[in-house]
Amino acid sequence: MTDGDTALTNLLGLPRPALEAFVAQLGSKPFRARQLMNWMYKRGASSFEDMTDLAKDFRARLGAVAQVRPPEIVATQNSADGTTKWLLRADARQAFEMVFIPEADRGTLCISSQVGCALDCSFCATAQQGFNRNLSTAEIVGQVWLACRELERLAVADGAADSGGGDERHVTNVVLMGMGEPLANFRNVVPALSILLDDFGFDLSRRRVTLSTSGLVPQIYKLAQESNVALAVSLHAPDDALRNELVPINRKHPIAELLQACWHYLDEQNGRSVTFEYVMLDGVNDSPAQARALARLLKGHPAKVNLIPFNPFPGTRYRRSPLPVIQRFRDELLQRGVLATIRRTRGDDIDAACGQLAGRVIDRTTARLGSKTFGVAVQP
Ligand code: SAH
Repeated sequence: MTDGDTALTNLLGLPRPALEAFVAQLGSKPFRARQLMNWMYKRGASSFEDMTDLAKDFRARLGAVAQVRPPEIVATQNSADGTTKWLLRADARQAFEMVFIPEADRGTLCISSQVGCALDCSFCATAQQGFNRNLSTAEIVGQVWLACRELERLAVADGAADSGGGDERHVTNVVLMGMGEPLANFRNVVPALSILLDDFGFDLSRRRVTLSTSGLVPQIYKLAQESNVALAVSLHAPDDALRNELVPINRKHPIAELLQACWHYLDEQNGRSVTFEYVMLDGVNDSPAQARALARLLKGHPAKVNLIPFNPFPGTRYRRSPLPVIQRFRDELLQRGVLATIRRTRGDDIDAACGQLAGRVIDRTTARLGSKTFGVAVQP
């Protein structure tokens, strides 16, 4: 559980049971773990010295072996619409991104799970970068911790001035929709989810944490046993031939299998519905006939479709569907009883919109899905 270039254990990577074991090893009582979490997550402390209700010698022992260390900020960019994007250090030469999206009724933090991505979806900027490594649990949790601190700091700097046009400037929702495929980093993502939900952690309700996957079917079954966060699935096509092209993992796990896994997840976790993301690509997947085919797949199931206007990036061969086409597509779904919404594009002036996160990635995949074999980046 050590992290990065230091031998100190980063406590942001330890869910409560692991933290209890850690403090027990230091000769302390398990309830000290809850006190520590209270300082780290409720009060935002990172220095053990500040944790004044912990015994002095315990603080000294902690300081010798542990730290609370969020990722380091390389750069911050602010969009005209209030969205903020942070470039975060993965190592000396690489970086990943997170984005905060303020809205009237919620503040959504979009976090990354990997440096790059190996899934090779043809319309996604992250895919163009290739894959380098999984983020650690501490790096995943550390994004949320850091964003909370940064937003507090900015609020203080702005004083009473209302900089966000009345929008929510706290993290109320977290979505794993940044760089990477979260289910390909299962072992680090699941403990991070538990810290997000823990009453002594970020205390977020399960409906306010969303994991988005391109469709790693076996890992969806596994997730159903280990977590109960909201599930979003990047569907993007109503048939296998087209989905094979857009989301190459579909060649391994076709649509019918993927949908079975989704309904299983809801059954197991007593979930309300699965959100299906559908990127609107001009002339590719946006016809009324394709909307009707999508409606046939989802009708009668607890599903919501979120239509995402394509966000372009340098070198892409796709174009965004015109708004009337997107609206017609939505209406075809609604008329057939399938819930559908159009995602508002946010932060595109700073390349912070869906699918535009590129960070800095040194590609070390020798085998990419679509070209050669798959599996290099998927951790059991
Ligand atoms: N790997 C996960 C998490 C990424 S979530 C997944 O695939 O679900 C990011 C969402 O934005 C996904 O639905 C993804 O398919 C979508 N997306 C990717 N590139 C996009 C682009 N250029 N424009 C709009 N949406 C895009």
